[in-house]
Amino acid sequence: MLIVMQSHASEEKIEKVVEFIKEKGFDAHVSTGEDHTVIGAVGRKIIDKRDIELLDGVKEVIRITSPYKLVSRVFKPDDTVIDIKGIKIGGGNIGMIAGPCSVESYEQMDATAQKLHSYGVKILRGGAFKPRTSPYSFQGLGEEGLKILRSVADKYNMLVTSEVMEVNQIPLFLKYVDILQVGARNMQNFNLLTNLGEIRKPILLKRGLSATIEEWLMSAEYIMAGGNREVILCERGIRTFEHMTRNTLDISAIPVVQKISHLPIMVDPSHATGLRDKVAPMSKAAVAAGADGLIIEVHNNPDTALCDGAQSLYPEQFADLFAELKALAEVIKKNFS
Ligand code: PEP
Ligand code: MN
Repeated sequence: MLIVMQSHASEEKIEKVVEFIKEKGFDAHVSTGEDHTVIGAVGRKIIDKRDIELLDGVKEVIRITSPYKLVSRVFKPDDTVIDIKGIKIGGGNIGMIAGPCSVESYEQMDATAQKLHSYGVKILRGGAFKPRTSPYSFQGLGEEGLKILRSVADKYNMLVTSEVMEVNQIPLFLKYVDILQVGARNMQNFNLLTNLGEIRKPILLKRGLSATIEEWLMSAEYIMAGGNREVILCERGIRTFEHMTRNTLDISAIPVVQKISHLPIMVDPSHATGLRDKVAPMSKAAVAAGADGLIIEVHNNPDTALCDGAQSLYPEQFADLFAELKALAEVIKKNFS
């Protein structure tokens, strides 16, 4: 941390700041220029920089180290590759997750999975516990939904992901699910994140509706700090002033995150746009921008979907898109796992 003193700050004020930071457990390195004195505070302690900004004679406090450690490339320079039963995500391997918004019935999941499997999709999605904006909307089938998801996935030799909403649901998810999804609305449920840090299954961490990239990475840090190193980030659109799409897909988050962090980053073009016809162009944009994977809503019959039908692709639409994405991946020397 660098503390820049106001020009010509008195010796006494400088000394008080030095004493303050030493009391907080930092070493102080004072360098005096013609106008300004700069104090370098070096240490591993966490301090609220506003506490220093308020001290007499302080002009500005500049943080030079990032608050996240384990998620950062400083800690681990190489890309993290998540390997789930041989299916790889990250480091040149693009993951593809597809399936309906929610599990509605065995027949619906079976019909959808059968098609997706025939197109080469290896990971199936489907919500069993749904975080709906309205309490009157379909809330999901609960454990029954997880059972359906598992049995259909096993039938087609696929992996599954589903959203966990509460700490007490974790044991249930460990039983049925390969990747536990943390939804946008729970990105800062720190108690849930801490508990997910204790398990040893990959976590798909969605970006919060209004979360900055730094806040999102700090949430990943919570999971990693507990010892679970398998975190996949997922950009799913953020809330902006624009209403033509459900959210605004932040494509630039992909290269920004990849520069700072070694963790794979996937993109959810379905929740980002909320509109079926926008899913293909945004999927292509995400792959072109370097995304490590996509999670796309596909329903065997979107017109009858209980949730998010308007943003769900028809299976044939998805098949065409997946073929195009594979061709695109080849151009950038990556491949779909
Ligand atoms: C979902 O993927 O089913 C979902 C609810 O997404 P999000 O948390 O991104 O809104
Ligand atoms: Mn959905």
